[in-house]
Amino acid sequence: MTRSGDQEIELLGEYLRSFPAIDTHDHLYPAEMLQQQVVTPNGPGMDLCGLWQTSYFPWTQPLPPRSPAEPFSQWWAQAKSAFPHGRALSVYHHLTRAIHDLYDVDFGRLDDDEANRLNEQIFGKYQSTTDWVREVVTERANIELVFIDPCWHYGELRYYYPFQILVLRIQQFLHGHSSAEFAHDPVVPGKHRISPYDLAQQWGMQIDDFDDYLDLMDRVVAEGKALGAYTLKQAVAYLRTLHFARVPKDRAARAFGKPRGELSGAEIQDFEDFIMWRLAELSAKYDLPFQIHTGPGLLPHSHPMLLCNLIEANPATRFILFHGGVPWVSEIGMMAFKFPNVWLDANWMPILSQTMARRAFHEWLDMVPSNRIMWGCDSLTPEGMYGAAEITRDILAQVLAERVQMGNIGRDDARDIGRQILRENALTMFPQLQARLWKHTGKLPPAPPCAGMVSSR
Ligand SMILES: [Zn+2]
Repeated sequence: MTRSGDQEIELLGEYLRSFPAIDTHDHLYPAEMLQQQVVTPNGPGMDLCGLWQTSYFPWTQPLPPRSPAEPFSQWWAQAKSAFPHGRALSVYHHLTRAIHDLYDVDFGRLDDDEANRLNEQIFGKYQSTTDWVREVVTERANIELVFIDPCWHYGELRYYYPFQILVLRIQQFLHGHSSAEFAHDPVVPGKHRISPYDLAQQWGMQIDDFDDYLDLMDRVVAEGKALGAYTLKQAVAYLRTLHFARVPKDRAARAFGKPRGELSGAEIQDFEDFIMWRLAELSAKYDLPFQIHTGPGLLPHSHPMLLCNLIEANPATRFILFHGGVPWVSEIGMMAFKFPNVWLDANWMPILSQTMARRAFHEWLDMVPSNRIMWGCDSLTPEGMYGAAEITRDILAQVLAERVQMGNIGRDDARDIGRQILRENALTMFPQLQARLWKHTGKLPPAPPCAGMVSSR
């Protein structure tokens, strides 16, 4: 049967929405944080201003700040002129798509009264935040399980949602040459870190020298796994280069016990480099795949190719490279072609550029076996997640339909590949997920118990 390209896309899109996806990377805020995004004249909450401010839109198109208790209408009078410049942005489209589908409003055509009404509607939804989050994530976006990286509190292992999978953020170890490094938390406003030294104290471990510190790292990863973390995650590409030299232990040890002010830039980098290699080894030792942020960050030092030496020398470590390496999507594809221990995760990519995402999926399917590609939303709010999930499905449907029309793959192949990327590849990479699947029962069970690795602060 011949079909037009549009029919092919539509049918594939329907199929890709028909089964629950598994989202391997998100930063979905806990309910109480979502409920405190803005301070309105009616108290703290989430509203239209809060949704835009927690999206990626202001990363490239600034929005005016909102003073505490400022009425939304006053903020909107200033803010509305910023949106027309962003009409074509992917970071705009993923959220307006969610606003359209979830609130039945065309954001691009709002007048002031309609904006106020939408604002009240959103504020109302967040009065029962947990219900709204569950409905949007698990029903509307049809996502079964979500890996939540607690970027607001590095190192924390705590369940906020029953559909959550724990992620052990471990980059704080790179900064642990001295316990004093953790005295001034937070380094970045709103971001806290669990000090490894606090954990050592809880566990009665004495950290006197570099070997003690390395033992502590081992213990944290082991405990993290025992507590239910399925993966390690690191996002230092915002702070430093992704090139990690192979540094001998004695050279790294020189920085140990000294605060930043007493160290040269080279000594700090030696320490960080050595720790990163040790983390890659621990990832293999404890069979916890290593998710690494690449692409956006400290440009141009966040190029994924800078990781080649580390990846090649650690063949037993499963590296999951994030964000499709945007904008270096072709290069990261070649890395997965060359290194069998590299998986690509497309999370965030479609929100940053739908066009690049289309090109990336095409190029990757040319170069990378389809069982080595995953996806995620990489958003802070349920609306952001919904928009990301829908756009990702749209793009996958387009790419796969084009390949069917080109005669590159058959229709069944297209469906299989879409299902691999959105669901099956995560289940293969993380077989523990099987025990957490719940959609087939129709009932979402509570999160498993997890005691430990939460901050005392
Ligand atoms: Zn992220």
